[in-house]
Parts: sequence; structure tokens; C-alpha cells
Amino acid sequence: MSHALVLNASFEPLHIVTWQRAMQLLFQGKVEVIEESDHEVHTVRLTIRVPAVLRLLSYVPLTRKKQIVRFSRANIFIRDRNACQYCGKVFPKSHLTLDHVVPIVQGGPKSWENIVTACKPCNQKKGGRTPTQAGMSLVRKPKQPRWLPATSFRMGVSITPERWKIYLKLERGSAYGPDNPLDDPTDIDLSDPSDGDR
Ligand SMILES: [Zn+2]
Repeated sequence: MSHALVLNASFEPLHIVTWQRAMQLLFQGKVEVIEESDHEVHTVRLTIRVPAVLRLLSYVPLTRKKQIVRFSRANIFIRDRNACQYCGKVFPKSHLTLDHVVPIVQGGPKSWENIVTACKPCNQKKGGRTPTQAGMSLVRKPKQPRWLPATSFRMGVSITPERWKIYLKLERGSAYGPDNPLDDPTDIDLSDPSDGDR
């Protein structure tokens, strides 16, 4: 265990730090330990269990700049739970595309609010039209997520440590399915939303 999950004072997952940084935060009195890891650090005088999950003692408001969810193709799929936002069906990633709700040609921006996951048939059916023009409707209004399921918290950590899971599940239980097959938070080029897969 070489990393610790840092939660906001409100228990929302914020980010991941190295265990050294975790110890530093702890000694600075900025965090409390929620879960310990099995990993121990020995100093001359004492043995300390490295924290696995920390909680900030003061709340950090998430500003736009600190927004942890990157705007990427993979993260849009994660937000939409691999479900086409027009027919509502869940598909493997290879069957999904990104759709501009308001097409670029009609002035639609590249934003969380204007790009949704769509299956290829729905995307084709919609074509270069708005949902209204195409007589289609969105399963739900797209918005910028404040966080994503556990998979997006890996950030260099090869597997999600057991002790983090219940904290990362906070949002999985409410907004996302129990099992999200997506595990690739790699940033991608959003320039070609009609392209089926990377
Ligand atoms: Zn569809």
C-alpha cells in the first residue's frame, strides 16, 4: 500500500496521495485517519501504520479549477454508465460513440452538458440534428459529474485498494451501477464524436 485516498470533510473522494504525503498531512494536523493500511513505517521510536483513507478536517469546496473529473471520452462513458442516452440500453464500449446533443454545426459546444454517450444506431438515426429535430429524447440531462466511480481514482494505482472501496462506493451506489466495466480514464481526443472506438 503506497497510496492513500483523501476524502473531503464531507466524505467525498477527493484525490490520491502517496503514503509519504499522507503522513505529512497527518502530522500537519490537516486530516484524520479513517482507515489504516497493513503497511507500517518504522522510525527510531515508534511504528506507525500508514493510513489508507484520510479525511480532511476542513471542507475544500470544489471549484472548477480543482475539478477532478477530466473531460474525456472515457469519463463521459463512465458518467453515462455505458448506456446510450437515447435508447437507454447498456453497450460494450466498442458499440458506443459520443454524440453532440446540439450538433457542432448548429453551435453545440464540446462540454459535459452537450456530449452524451450514444449507441451507433441512435447516433446514426439522430444524424446532424438536435434531439427535438430528430424526434428523440435524452434519458437524462447531461451534466458535469463531480466525481466518478472507483475506476477513475486509480491514477497510477494498479488496483483499487479494498479499504478505499466503501468510500468510492458512496457515489457508485447512488449514481452508478455496482459494477462499472470501464477502467480506462485515459484522456482522449473528443474531436471525432462519430468515431466508434479509440
Ligand atoms: Zn441507442
